[in-house]
Amino acid sequence: MKNIAVIGSGTMGNGIAHVFAQNGFTVSLIDISAQALEKAVATITKNLDRLVAKEKIDATTKEATLANLTTFTDTKQGIANADLVVEAATENVDLKLKIFKQLDVLAPTNCILATNTSSISITKIGAVTNRPDKVIGMHFMNPVPIMKLVEIIRGYNTTDEVTNSIMELSKRLGKSPVEVNDYPGFVANRILMPMINEAIYTLYEGVAGVEEIDTVMKLGMAHPMGPLQLADFIGLDVCLSILNVLYEGFGNPKYAPCPLLVNMVEAGHKGIKSGTGFYSWGHGTKELIIADSFK
Ligand code: NAD
Repeated sequence: MKNIAVIGSGTMGNGIAHVFAQNGFTVSLIDISAQALEKAVATITKNLDRLVAKEKIDATTKEATLANLTTFTDTKQGIANADLVVEAATENVDLKLKIFKQLDVLAPTNCILATNTSSISITKIGAVTNRPDKVIGMHFMNPVPIMKLVEIIRGYNTTDEVTNSIMELSKRLGKSPVEVNDYPGFVANRILMPMINEAIYTLYEGVAGVEEIDTVMKLGMAHPMGPLQLADFIGLDVCLSILNVLYEGFGNPKYAPCPLLVNMVEAGHKGIKSGTGFYSWGHGTKELIIADSFK
């Protein structure tokens, strides 16, 4: 595999494009918004500068990485020669199904179609294409250039051959891939989201305050950050929608989102992205705060 197309250049898409380009792949970064593409290239450049300053890469690698990257607003043009497409567009079922129908028509016949979805069924996405055997989940973690894990999700029809090639490819990016099957929340969010939800219930029921709950989990369980702070990072709206996927997918009340979480999202308190969640985040942008927390 040599030519990679990344659909969506937001928080995740720019990170995914960055790691592929830095590892020598030719990357087409595609977005419907030219402004988002401009911002993505600026973010990648800033992140590369940070790596140069820390002497993790040299200036030549930075230039080579940027040279491997081309941006497109036209999907057809961007994926014409793709061996692999990684879709990282907005988390919305109807949008993803529409994008995959389009990719199936436009992408070369042998091209593997991967999605970075946090919670949507890979099997459902694969079913709208004529190549469900070549549709797979490639769930990178945020921030992509830093986090080692890629959760590789095989849909019901994904073949061993496709799974193995994506596992190998992830290792070539310096990542540690883990193969999982396609059930609601996969593994990462099936375990993480109930923990976050329970932390919110603990607050809601007045057992302890925000700082206290996070301190218990940081100092007692050696978590790098507490579950309420992590929820602010992820976005409370995103947490709510993943909990709803678990709740509806399993039909089990243990996944029911805490009423406090529902209220906060309805009130527009979505965490760092809105400036307030369980903490007040002032004027820092989400990307900046995340980058600083990993220094
Ligand atoms: P984002 O909102 O930051 O970026 C989404 C981008 O997709 C936007 O730039 C938008 O213009 C673009 N887009 C929308 N429709 C498009 C289309 N038809 N064609 C091309 N581009 C299109 O979203 P994000 O946080 O980067 O999330 C992207 C995906 O990654 C989602 O599926 C999300 O669940 C998943 N994910 C997010 C995180 C996270 O922490 N943010 C972590 C893991 C996985």
